[in-house]
Order: sequence, then structure tokens, then C-alpha cells
Amino acid sequence: MFRFRSLGSGSAGNATLVEVRDGTRVSRLLIDCGFGLRQLDARLARAGLAAAELDAVFVTHEHSDHIGCAHALSRRNGLAVWMSEGTWLATGAPDYEGRLHFARDGEDIAVGALSLTPFTVPHDAREPLQLRCTDGARTLGVLTDLGHASAHVMARLQRLQALLLESNHDPQLLAQSSYPPFLKRRVGGNYGHLSNQAAAEIARAVHHGGLRHVLAAHLSERNNRPETVRATLGEALGIRPEEVLTASAAEGSGWLDV
Ligand SMILES: [Zn+2]
Ligand SMILES: [Zn+2]
Repeated sequence: MFRFRSLGSGSAGNATLVEVRDGTRVSRLLIDCGFGLRQLDARLARAGLAAAELDAVFVTHEHSDHIGCAHALSRRNGLAVWMSEGTWLATGAPDYEGRLHFARDGEDIAVGALSLTPFTVPHDAREPLQLRCTDGARTLGVLTDLGHASAHVMARLQRLQALLLESNHDPQLLAQSSYPPFLKRRVGGNYGHLSNQAAAEIARAVHHGGLRHVLAAHLSERNNRPETVRATLGEALGIRPEEVLTASAAEGSGWLDV
């Protein structure tokens, strides 16, 4: 069994649980922990889990909606943490007391029965990485926080069975929003976040008969609407808008089988 669920996704905080059962062995990875400790515990409890049941944390980059309580969680639960050296440096190089491991583009990481392949994405962070996760048979892609899909990113999204995909903003809502001009340029720029249209283009390009789930994530609460995301992604995937899955900031998503 190989499944995942979002514990919450948006500009205020992101965390995704990945779980693989291989005989009696269960491996659990938390990708990002962009919440406070208490909030993360509450969200894990809603998924029926405690932090003590996690095997490792992978932090994609240093923005607070992703790194959140990584240091405190690692310290409290003695958890191994993976992140790029750039992410670690950007957060002031804190002491993880031997539990920190550096992740690099293209270098596989084993977390129990899970194998992770990090890959570089264009985003305004020091050394951001997103992930492919596989149990050896099936593969989940996790892709948020990037301004555009580079050829490198697209190469890493081939032959997926499931994809958690950023669909951050509607360009028109962003243009009309009360965001200051520099922030509009940042969010909509090449190193910002994916628009609904950019997400739909990626979905169209990676779509194949074996792709079971695309979960739209990191939706802007101010500059997007879930119904717009569902309409745009639904068209790209050839499914009805109501069949498109979206992760919310408050609840995330339910469990999805890869
Ligand atoms: Zn983010
Ligand atoms: Zn970010």
C-alpha cells in the first residue's frame, strides 16, 4: 500500500504525509512542516497519526510555509531531516544535532521502503528541491513553489501514478489584487508560483492512462478560487470539474492511493 494526503496547503502552511506499507514495515515521510508544532500535531491527529510515528521529514525550501517547525519537531521527536545545504544555510545553519542530511538534485534518498529523488525547481529560494517518491512499483510526484516548468522539471514528472501539483493563482485575480506591485511581480514571475494555466499545461503534458490522481495544492486564498482551479485542471485532464481534487489550507485532503 502506498498512499499520501495533504495536511494543509496554501501560503500559510504546507505539509504532506506519504506512507508505504511493505509487509509488516510501515514507512512514513512528512514533506514540509510549514505549521507550528501544536498545529502540526493537530493535523497529524486528524490523519490518525502522531509525530512519533514519522520516520523522516523532507523540507523543500526555507520559506516559512514549508520549513515551519522542522527544527523543533526534529529535536522533540529525534527525527531525521533532509533538506538542501542551501536551504539549511538560508535558515541560519541551525544545529540539528546529527539528524540533518543534505539532499541534492538527482541523488536518491531511502526512507524505509520509500525512495525519494529530489529535483531542482525555479523558485526564489536559495536551493529549492521538489520530489519524486516511489515504493519501487509506483511513483508520486510532489511539485509546489516554482515559477515555471523547466525542461528539468518536466523530465522528472514522467510516468507518475499520482501528482500533487501547485495551482497557485488566477493571473487576472492576481493583477486586480491589493498586493503591492513587487509582490505581484514576484508571485507571477519565473521564480514565483504556478498560475492555474501553467499547472494545467503541466497536467496536460504528464497525463497518461496510469495517472490516477492529480491533487491541486498551494492555492492562493486571495488570488484564486477552487472552482476556477477545478475548471482549468479538469479541462486539461479530460475530467469533470467536480472530479478535480483540491487541497485546502484548513483541511488539506483525504488519503489518496498512489
Ligand atoms: Zn510555499
Ligand atoms: Zn516558496
